Amino acid sequence: MIPAARPEIGDEERAAVDRVMRSGMLAQGPEVAAFETEFSAIVDGMHSVAVNSGTSALHLAFLAAGVGPGDEVIVPSFSFAATANAVALAGAVPVFADIETDYFSIDPAAVEAAITPRTKAIMPVHLYGHPANLVALKAIADKHGLLLFEDAAQAHAASVDGIPVGAWGIAGSFSFYPTKNMTAGEGGMITTPSEEVARLAKVLRNQGMERRYENEVVGFNTRMTDIHAAIGRVQLTKLAGWTAKRQSNAAFLTANLEGVITPPTAPGAVHVFHQYTIRVTDLDRDAFAAELGKRGVGSGVYYPTPIHRLPSFQLELDLPGTELAASQVLSLPVFPSLNDDELGTIVEAVNAVAKAGS
Ligand SMILES: *Cc1c(COP(=O)(O)O)cnc(C)c1O
Repeated sequence: MIPAARPEIGDEERAAVDRVMRSGMLAQGPEVAAFETEFSAIVDGMHSVAVNSGTSALHLAFLAAGVGPGDEVIVPSFSFAATANAVALAGAVPVFADIETDYFSIDPAAVEAAITPRTKAIMPVHLYGHPANLVALKAIADKHGLLLFEDAAQAHAASVDGIPVGAWGIAGSFSFYPTKNMTAGEGGMITTPSEEVARLAKVLRNQGMERRYENEVVGFNTRMTDIHAAIGRVQLTKLAGWTAKRQSNAAFLTANLEGVITPPTAPGAVHVFHQYTIRVTDLDRDAFAAELGKRGVGSGVYYPTPIHRLPSFQLELDLPGTELAASQVLSLPVFPSLNDDELGTIVEAVNAVAKAGS
């Protein structure tokens, strides 16, 4: 069975963990500081602040930039729940706007229509590694005086017009969960052009203190450990090669798949293919996935239920693009260590299932 995802953990990661274990200093320390400096290089020199998860990165970015009670943040409903959870955890209200179904990211026209006097920020999600329409979204944010955040959990090193994601607004948030394009075991990174937002995020992750025992605000313990940072540092050196392999795997699939809608890339965008997501239009998507499974090809549905309809939110909204995507999307294996045989198996299986059903 070809799995839907396969984390790449090698000898260098094991050696890095061993190095930290032998140093005797396990909590946040020099490895975290080095990881932050090295990560800044892939986000155009933004300040980087490492935390214990992508969700913490989103949450602390909102708090550090002053988003809280009474504020609305416009987000897509077609994402992982953490996108909206972070808004709610900051005390603000997530306002769900529809997506454009070509690229599965928030529709700028829908964003503009959702703006109210309470809107404080917009947060697109670069879903599957394809950047949202940042040019249009930044223009809307500037026009209405709103903060632009980026949920870049799935999009390390993606870019638009040569500018990397995580460098477009007041803050970007990345995740290092094992299935993401690079991992630290668990972890997250806040990126920001603002020295003050970076400083506040660092204070908030460490009990609200910059100087020891002089706590200035009520904060969290959302620090990253040096063990996790050491893994992340090794993975960061491999990210460019893995991204290129994801892109060539995706190009092969797009050139050879038949009977399904393959994922396009917007002009000016660099897609890093966290997922390779097709749309199944003529057949039942879940039956399609089950047939692929019988042929040894794993797949995934991200995400079957839009966030606004989850038990945690239970909102009745009319988001037709979101509903359509949730019913049609199917992500195929695209991870870097796929070999030519496996790529061939995926193509044969998808084409056979699509043909049998049409
Ligand atoms: C993974 C993910 C997150 C959360 O990251 P964690 O590290 O799992 O907390 C947030 N948003 C999106 C879109 C994600 O895919």
